[in-house]
Amino acid sequence: DIDRISNIIRTQDILRRHDFNFKKKFGQNFLTDHNILSKITQTAELSKEVNVIEIGPGIGSLTQYLLEEAHEVMAFEIDKTLIPILSETLAPYDNFTLVNADILKIDLMAAIQNFKNPNLPIKVVANLPYYITTPILMHLIESKIPFAEFVVMMQKEVADRIAAKPNSKAYGSLSIAVQYYMEASVAFVVPRTVFIPAPNVDSAILKMVRRRSPLVEVKDEAWFFKTMHSSFVHRRKTLMNNLQAAFGKENKAEIEQYLQKAEISPSIRAEALSIADFAKLADALLPLKN
Ligand code: SAM
Repeated sequence: DIDRISNIIRTQDILRRHDFNFKKKFGQNFLTDHNILSKITQTAELSKEVNVIEIGPGIGSLTQYLLEEAHEVMAFEIDKTLIPILSETLAPYDNFTLVNADILKIDLMAAIQNFKNPNLPIKVVANLPYYITTPILMHLIESKIPFAEFVVMMQKEVADRIAAKPNSKAYGSLSIAVQYYMEASVAFVVPRTVFIPAPNVDSAILKMVRRRSPLVEVKDEAWFFKTMHSSFVHRRKTLMNNLQAAFGKENKAEIEQYLQKAEISPSIRAEALSIADFAKLADALLPLKN
């Protein structure tokens, strides 16, 4: 594997020849470890029947592995100084499309029509820029593009929050916002030593598989998310306290009546509620929407 882009000697040579400077503002930490890269690729379970979207290819360290396994890889890179580097490092591959763009601003739905075979399932595989992990994930999940799955590296702390189950410290609105659509689990933890430069935190690979339909059925999706977010505003306070803060103290009796109907205790804390409980709660509180 000494010929790999990710090989530390080759990486340093590429960076030096192109006079590349790491940009902190773009969250640039490049992978230099063959074992981690092949583990990520294995976790993604790719085949020549799968298209891949990569966010932030960097110098192509992960991209190279993806290109060997997938039908086609389309990568979005914001840093224009990486474009000539990628043209060089990935020149041997004819199944690679590079787009110089901010993933949060591009019309992704239009972009994916450019896959040679747009009917293949699409997986997102990426070592994400950590400063915008959550915005990117929510942007992709809510894009309505039917991604089959995501295998993405992020700060371990964020991965834990996304995959968290009720009654844990990490469980909150982010866990629910993601798990409503996807089945999420931490695949493995990655030490900071396998990157250059090394980030300040440990990382984890999160695997998220899209559910055939959302985990729970609700009468009003926007209202479900609104009541769920409202319930977590003050984590240490009771559900009743949070609901009163959100929907008005004057509605106390009404809220209590709806909670009783949903068989949810007003003195419980939001972190004790499952996603199914939040669905029941939102449906019961629906008359408060105006
Ligand atoms: N995939 C490479 C690797 O694993 O070595 C690089 C990963 S690095 C953590 C994150 C990459 O995302 C950088 O190349 C950075 O320039 C790029 N990036 C940062 N913000 C971006 C954005 N908004 N849209 C697209 N790419 C972005």
